[in-house]
Amino acid sequence: MGKQKTIRYDLMDDRSFDQALKIDRKKGLNEREVQARRLEFGKNELTEGKKVSLFRKFVDQFKDFLILVLIAAAVISGALGEVSDAVLILLIVVLNAVIGVVQENKAESAMASLKKMTVHEAKVIRSGVHQIIRSEELVPGDIVLLEAGDAVPADGRLIEIAGLKVQESALTGESVPVEKTLKGDFNEATPLADRTNMVYMHSSVTYGRGTFVVTATGMDTEIGKIAGMIQNTESQATPLTQNINQLGKTLGLAALICCGVVFAVGLLRGGNPLEMFLTAVSLAVAAIPEGLPAIVTVVLALGTMRLAKKNAIIRKLPAVETLGCASVICTDKTGTLTQNRMTIKKVYANEGIIDAEAIKEDGFTPSEKFVVRIGELCNDAQIIKDPGKSVEVGDPTEVAMVDYADRLGFEKNINIKEAPRVGELPFDSDRKLMTTVHHYHDTYLSFTKGAPDCLLSKCTHYLKGYEILELTPERRQEILSANDTLANDSYRVLGYAFQQYQKKPPIEEKKLENGLIFAGLTGMIDPPREEVRDSVRDCHQAGIKTVMITGDHKQTAVAIAKDLEIFKDGDLALSGAELDQLTDQELDDVIARVSVYARVSPEDKVRIVQAWQRRGDVVAMTGDGVNDAPALKRADIGCAMGITGTDVSKEAADMILTDDNFSTIVSAVKEGRGIYDNIKKAVHFLLSCNIAEILVIFIATLIGLPQPLVPVHILWINLVTDSLPALALGMEKQSDDVMKEKPRKKDDSIFAHGLGGRIVFQGIVLFLISLIVFVSAEKAYGLAVGRTMTFCVLGLSQLAHLLNVRSEQQSAFKHLFTNRYLWGAMAISVCVQLIVVLIPALHPFFTVTALNAVQWVTVVLASVAPLAVVEITKAVQKARA
Ligand code: ATP
Repeated sequence: MGKQKTIRYDLMDDRSFDQALKIDRKKGLNEREVQARRLEFGKNELTEGKKVSLFRKFVDQFKDFLILVLIAAAVISGALGEVSDAVLILLIVVLNAVIGVVQENKAESAMASLKKMTVHEAKVIRSGVHQIIRSEELVPGDIVLLEAGDAVPADGRLIEIAGLKVQESALTGESVPVEKTLKGDFNEATPLADRTNMVYMHSSVTYGRGTFVVTATGMDTEIGKIAGMIQNTESQATPLTQNINQLGKTLGLAALICCGVVFAVGLLRGGNPLEMFLTAVSLAVAAIPEGLPAIVTVVLALGTMRLAKKNAIIRKLPAVETLGCASVICTDKTGTLTQNRMTIKKVYANEGIIDAEAIKEDGFTPSEKFVVRIGELCNDAQIIKDPGKSVEVGDPTEVAMVDYADRLGFEKNINIKEAPRVGELPFDSDRKLMTTVHHYHDTYLSFTKGAPDCLLSKCTHYLKGYEILELTPERRQEILSANDTLANDSYRVLGYAFQQYQKKPPIEEKKLENGLIFAGLTGMIDPPREEVRDSVRDCHQAGIKTVMITGDHKQTAVAIAKDLEIFKDGDLALSGAELDQLTDQELDDVIARVSVYARVSPEDKVRIVQAWQRRGDVVAMTGDGVNDAPALKRADIGCAMGITGTDVSKEAADMILTDDNFSTIVSAVKEGRGIYDNIKKAVHFLLSCNIAEILVIFIATLIGLPQPLVPVHILWINLVTDSLPALALGMEKQSDDVMKEKPRKKDDSIFAHGLGGRIVFQGIVLFLISLIVFVSAEKAYGLAVGRTMTFCVLGLSQLAHLLNVRSEQQSAFKHLFTNRYLWGAMAISVCVQLIVVLIPALHPFFTVTALNAVQWVTVVLASVAPLAVVEITKAVQKARA
């Protein structure tokens, strides 16, 4: 990557700045220049910190104390003549370490590809054309456009601003947004934070608009210089992984005690000390569920990949777990429940509501003309027409206005030249208004559009014909009822007003959004998304409440909520103003019945989340604007919009919906429940198998039997059953029933609802079968055959037991073949288990012997016995229920 000297671009005058970067402010760079600069400066990305090497990861696998003891014990027994045992144990330990590394890598690469999915984009001007490119494609000299909510994609100097404010805390630690300027009194001593004509990578625009020229990219940026310090090392431990870690430790301790007892009792009974020690340590290694946290992480990570395929990108791993507990989904309306494809259908221009299409035929009245003009010019959207296709850029509400003006024959390009914009107050969802100021012939016009109720409160007059008349209370009422009529019919209603000035007015809210002249209203249709109705029903069935929170008008919101079955008889709808009147206590009393909040501000969203959380609910909340960040952070699952969402909201969110669709949240919840179920299955399987392994050795030692298994057997069974099969359980398809149950409680233990009991019971069944096989086979055929059969039965019965844990209530034979990974894992594991007994050359290494047909039949029958036992208990339980 080319290295840039620290040049103080902030101090240069405009000409030397343009010359230094060789730029044309109007056209930007052309493709050739971009290519050349990319070669010189490289990609605009921060390079990652050092990665841990594979070898290092492999070595780390041996850091476990018990593994070290096992290796030591194996080496000692090797030195005492048991060479094949020692070599085999070491081999198994190495194999285990390899599996550990593979698992870790899988989890890591899944996490890394997730990070890559959150692509940032930048709006640039290149070769005179507005384009949207990936931020990493930026080069010095590029002209970049910024608006509220954008993350600044590179360092640069501002060349145009409109009320631009930028939050630079990542760089300066200052949490109050900085107001940007084009000129200032900068000198050599001005610190970074005060060079207000510059913007820096990783800060975010909180208000206004601006244009800047990129001066530094990638590691040359100010943040790049300190990137080493701020590498994103956010911990991804989830409550579940923490619990599992803790559980692993407790169970590990219990296993250690058992192993201690096995060793002591074995010695007392006159066993060979080294053999007893090796048995005890092997048992400890096998029985301690050290692989559990890794498996949980892999299952979570694989789940996030599946979620990504379903358009939900998880930014924070704990969210996957929380998703399964979600009991309330608070969702935006526009774009999430609806398609965000708006078309103006109705117009009210102080003469009654008419069809939008009717205007053209009859010619324009002055107020109609103002409505269309204001909509077109107080507007940042564009429809770029290329032969063959047209591209819409900007907010769909605004695109609808440009499109409407276009259809009526108004040319935005011509009109904006006639009345160029000289100032503006950008739209924000607190004011719900936007104003632009235009120079028109010798005068100045300000155009304001926005939510009719907010707008009307700023109007003192209205336009009728060519007359400007006073807005009497009766007249105001007429306009409001026109608004209500449209809203009740689900139209999204916007109002339009203007004002005229002789001199250029100050660009202040107090001045520009006061004493306005009302021109009219438009009603747009934004059809609901087809799939949402079913998703709302799914939520209802799954015990999840859907709540609509919108900036739109109450009537419009309720009309759409009714249509989507979110608002039912007996439900309440509250407006932001009504919400403000309620105390927290009053809100708590009604909250369960409120299914629509309208005209709310982003701050209200935080209050709504908190109120639900006080009831113990787990809340998913959507958001897209800059001001939604606090609510997204506060919610248990903050969901940002991938298409319309600002960078700021995406940064704050736990999950990004790449299609902005409500149904995606619902499928993510379903997937989240499935993932949790799968983790439970893996825990169920591993722990019941470990219990069986411990008990076989422990009880045999206590009652004075010969050791049913030698150390190599224990380690081999552990290798066969612990990794692949448990992982395959993590790939189970979620059952259709997951959305028929109530949400899981956040603080429910993983062993709740009888899982703990089932694990112990099934562990005992596995153990008893192996013990019975050992006792009878040893008596009938001698110790060598007895051990071989026990070795086979304990290994194979665990693999059959895999089918048991697939469902807690349902028969293993239902949906038997839906998980091909499980069958693959089983096939591999069965082969690995049997190979040892079937290939005579391996017998001496594994202390096994050949079995005859009767013995094999016994092994097979005994191995499927746990399946039969558990099937019967499931049937009995079902019959009782
Ligand atoms: P949701 O919160 O469900 O996404 P919304 O788009 O209505 O719905 P906001 O974006 O907060 O929410 O908008 C609030 C209100 O502001 C809208 O109902 C509309 O009346 C008005 N409005 C929306 N976009 C603009 C705009 N670009 N210019 C002026 N007013 C707008």
